Amino acid sequence: MKIKSIVAIALALMSFASVQPASAALKVVTTTADLGALAKEVGGDKVQVDSFAKGYQDPHFVEPKPSFILLANKADLLIVVGRELEIGWLPPLITSSRNSKIQTGAAGYLDASSNVKILEIPTGQITRAMGDVHPAGNPHYWLDPGNGRKIAAAIRDKFSELSPADKAYFAQRYSDFDKRLADAEKKWDATMAPYKGTKIVTYHRSWPNFVERFGLDVIGYVEPKPGIPPSPSHTLELIDEMKRQNVKVILVEPYFDLKTPQSIANQVGGKVLVLAPSVGGTKEATDYITLFDYDVNTLATALKATTGK
Ligand SMILES: [Zn+2]
Repeated sequence: MKIKSIVAIALALMSFASVQPASAALKVVTTTADLGALAKEVGGDKVQVDSFAKGYQDPHFVEPKPSFILLANKADLLIVVGRELEIGWLPPLITSSRNSKIQTGAAGYLDASSNVKILEIPTGQITRAMGDVHPAGNPHYWLDPGNGRKIAAAIRDKFSELSPADKAYFAQRYSDFDKRLADAEKKWDATMAPYKGTKIVTYHRSWPNFVERFGLDVIGYVEPKPGIPPSPSHTLELIDEMKRQNVKVILVEPYFDLKTPQSIANQVGGKVLVLAPSVGGTKEATDYITLFDYDVNTLATALKATTGK
């Protein structure tokens, strides 16, 4: 659907929406399900959270819907991943929302990337030949639980600023999440410990923060360049490199075609693993902690089978 017709439908719906009584809860919209999950952890029943992208969708390419404009129109706060992840679809949505509260730089706009650890910040000039490279660094930073904790802290501070009467409530919810996350991290670290230094291949560059956190080594990508579909010549090179370095596991995001990864795995005697890059990417990943539970356990099981450790 064209953005113009989406706006027309949304505007028609808005006139109905405005007659509903306003609720006391802070209305929050997030671009991704991960930010939504973290907002729910911190906000509890003092916030109402909706997210645009589903966890099984590619967050670089999200189809705008009239319901998105409605949500954006009514929101007190918009939380974005930033680092240009949403550059292809979010800016027109913000403009069409006609909501001054959530415009870029306004008090109701939170870029979750501002105080987290960002990897792959390119040095030197970026050209189109490099593919869909993000000049502000890799935007898939939420896949490190340390960053998840920092995002939750930024959300706590923003909620407290917008709803000062609930500051103690948000602080308590954050502290509870922080503890549960720390306990879970100990478990994940123990599960992944035997596989430190194991080499893997991933489809897209979605996992640099994840592999750094758990000590794995990515030796190549199914995509020849970020955002560019597999090519026969790149695939052959990748197969050679995987054979040379004895790499057996290929991580694939749920929104990519499995045909090329599967044929690579067949060539090298390896295994394709579909992991969830986001909450909702698989039915088991219902919140931020179960997302890592699923990914860590699924990956460790595959690494155990392929490395014999
Ligand atoms: Zn990406």
